[in-house]
Amino acid sequence: MDISRGNAEIKHSSEAARRIAYCKKCLMPNSRPRITFDESGVCNACRNAEEKWANLDWQARKEEFQRLIEPFRSKNGYWDCLVPWSGGKDSSAVAYKLKFEFGMNPLLVTFSPQIPNEVGNHNREALIRLGFDHIFFRPNQKVHRRLARRFFIERGNQKVAWDAGINVIPVKTAVDFNIPLVFYAEHGESEYGGKVLSQEAKKSVILPK
Ligand SMILES: [Zn+2]
Repeated sequence: MDISRGNAEIKHSSEAARRIAYCKKCLMPNSRPRITFDESGVCNACRNAEEKWANLDWQARKEEFQRLIEPFRSKNGYWDCLVPWSGGKDSSAVAYKLKFEFGMNPLLVTFSPQIPNEVGNHNREALIRLGFDHIFFRPNQKVHRRLARRFFIERGNQKVAWDAGINVIPVKTAVDFNIPLVFYAEHGESEYGGKVLSQEAKKSVILPK
């Protein structure tokens, strides 16, 4: 073992740790890409959350949402919407609310995690058992591993191909099955710090024929 090299690494990491600052409210570190802090040391995700709770009329939004989904509601038991679904908290909450609070019939679509784990499988199974249809797409592992390795070497990000998969597979499934409505879950940038989208961004409706 090269002790001198080990010490240098420890020194370097402790210097880096000293430069880390945390949001005064939520403890999100400044190492998150695109996070910003105001003069009180509070991050933009916290400010975005405060803005939502202070200025949004949630009842009016719920009524607007109900008006928007009504034309899509299935009358023959076919899927009327699709949820790109990891099995995590936000996409599961969206799926659950659509089915049990708003009476929709969503199809859940998962592009497999690169390395599915027991907790994820358990969580997905728990929701599916409540009565959802689910499509789980697992790509050719020989191809996927090769792409992950290549993108890790070329770009330092092994998830480039996976990102493409999670974006393409739900939309392709919606098109293939003629499902006119897709519900994405939280906007991670707004929720955890990053580029916050306008509340009115891309708010247009194309009604089913
Ligand atoms: Zn914060």
